[in-house]
Amino acid sequence: MGSIKVRRHWKPQILWLASTLSLLCPVAGAQILPAPPAPFSREVPSGEGVCSTHTSCADLAPRMIQSALGASPLEENLRYLTDSIGGRITGSPAANRAVGWAVEALRHAGVDEVHTEKFTIPAGWSEGHTQIEVISPESFPVRLVSIAWSPGTPEGGITRDIVDVGPGDDAGFARAGEAVKGAIVLVHSDILVTWDDLFHEYAVASGIADRSVHAGALAILWMSSRPNLLLYRHTVAGAGQIDHIPQAVVAREDAERVARFLARGQRVRVHFEMSNRVTGPVESENVIAEIRGREKPGEFVLLGAHLDSWDLGTGALDNGCNAMMVIDAARVIRASGVIPRRSIRFALFTGEEQGLLGSWDYARAHRPELDRMVAAIVFDGGIGEVTGFSLGGRKDLLPAVREALEPVQSLGVKDFTFDIDTGTDEFDFVLEGVPTLVANQAAANYLINYHAASDTFDKVDIAQLKRQVAISAVTAYALADREQPIGPRQSRAQIEQNLKAEGVDSRAPGKWYLFQKGDRGRQP
Ligand SMILES: [Zn+2]
Repeated sequence: MGSIKVRRHWKPQILWLASTLSLLCPVAGAQILPAPPAPFSREVPSGEGVCSTHTSCADLAPRMIQSALGASPLEENLRYLTDSIGGRITGSPAANRAVGWAVEALRHAGVDEVHTEKFTIPAGWSEGHTQIEVISPESFPVRLVSIAWSPGTPEGGITRDIVDVGPGDDAGFARAGEAVKGAIVLVHSDILVTWDDLFHEYAVASGIADRSVHAGALAILWMSSRPNLLLYRHTVAGAGQIDHIPQAVVAREDAERVARFLARGQRVRVHFEMSNRVTGPVESENVIAEIRGREKPGEFVLLGAHLDSWDLGTGALDNGCNAMMVIDAARVIRASGVIPRRSIRFALFTGEEQGLLGSWDYARAHRPELDRMVAAIVFDGGIGEVTGFSLGGRKDLLPAVREALEPVQSLGVKDFTFDIDTGTDEFDFVLEGVPTLVANQAAANYLINYHAASDTFDKVDIAQLKRQVAISAVTAYALADREQPIGPRQSRAQIEQNLKAEGVDSRAPGKWYLFQKGDRGRQP
């Protein structure tokens, strides 16, 4: 990612609040705002909407930061979501329970209104019993889990040879030749170290699956890109559809063992059984809350993170921590006692892991009001230090965003980039031409635990997550309260140009195709 040179001087926060001052300080001599309410309290400070003196108004950002970093329900909320509710696959009972609980948690945060918005995903899915038994040349354990939204094997399983197709590129399939037909293919991977490695893993997956199907393979075994027997779950199918052939992730060490036999020219024959449960279309819900703006309530900033997760772990880093951040940001803004000029919506999307299905549906369902949507702010990077935001290709937003976010410069928000993230919930707003901000975060412990059995509560640095609450609350407030929006909604031609300039057409051909067709994004 590129980085933009930033000013190192820290401007007094009073500048950011210049517009707030004139509108929110009409009552001289009113009482100083009380301390933030206790965890899970519905109390709203009595001085709501007014400031007593310029000093207390100018303190707004520091106040919000202090409130975020202090005692809060954040840790207990995350513990409940991850330990008590657990992994939350879209359409599952756990995901539905999380939705109901999040509605309550947002009510406790004191927002004006909370509701859910239903949408339908193409299929429901859960893993059944997944097993490989090695018949020859030796019997040894092969640990594996199903790829999400993969079909199961036919009842009773299949008994077939494994064929090594290397990294699954054209050369790998060419080397394997006719042997692939009717076999189970083994696809190698490199160990995941960087964000780029992860993007690469996603970028090549659907091509490999297509090659496997075209070559007549019956199933795919993906070598885990994480060592030490760590297993994780991915989807390969794009938008919640069931894949063509059964696929599983195999523990790296076990997959390498299979590959060594094959490299010696020994035949590896296995019995592979996977009894996934697949249903027809299922409903899911986004949770949407709002703090209504004082002056232009029809205009809004959206702060969002996805609530759904995979289920081998409990979805703590991805993305339970940031879903709980959104709820606590609502509490912090409410507890500040001031109302922003425009509304702030808080969105907990579901269906993200199946292909951004919840945020896609939201963008589509709310198209008539997207001209009044000032920005979408999305967090989906675990608890790595926030270095700034990516502005989705929109260089025109930089001056306003930089000015608006000066109050969080001291928290490390300094660098703004312009890449378009095609893999999280801001993407459909980019496609609609709405300004977007995605938190740029250090990798920290995100990648090793990504979608894995090890993505659990203990991985979350609560102190850092509180800083994210501070950053997200101040950012949402600053954009909502700014006199002018940070930038206009783009026309379809501008969006198309932006997507091409950022390489979305080549990086995410499936999504690009849907945009071209008009199924996704601003309508022609
Ligand atoms: Zn995520």
